[in-house]
Amino acid sequence: MSQNETIFSKIIRREINAQIVHETENVLAFRDINPQASTHVLIIPKKPIVNLNDASSEDREILGELLLAAAEVAKIEGVAQDGYRVVINNGERAGQSVFHLHLHILGGRAFEWPPG
Ligand code: AMP
Repeated sequence: MSQNETIFSKIIRREINAQIVHETENVLAFRDINPQASTHVLIIPKKPIVNLNDASSEDREILGELLLAAAEVAKIEGVAQDGYRVVINNGERAGQSVFHLHLHILGGRAFEWPPG
């Protein structure tokens, strides 16, 4: 496995199954295998960026695309109007377990602040 090879690389290559809800040339959105809300979708860049620490100004466009995809997924999932949470767990202490940058899109219930 290369340094940036994760389970998400296999999903991008269709080597393992995922329930894909949205795809563009640069990003892929699929359902989280262990959902924390009735809507729980992950959005990843196809480029294997580890997390925000690994992103550079070269990735400006792709980072923008991820946020636009978040709004698109919320619309597709029917949670845009009610509200939804967008989370990036950046690094181990923040709860990152898969080291390929991903946005969690969570919706369909109320969320508390501050988060745990
Ligand atoms: P994080 O803890 O922020 O790195 O989030 C990783 C997320 O990936 C977790 O919510 C997992 O449930 C999810 N996950 C891990 N493996 C898969 C998979 N094969 N398909 C879909 N989601 C996955």
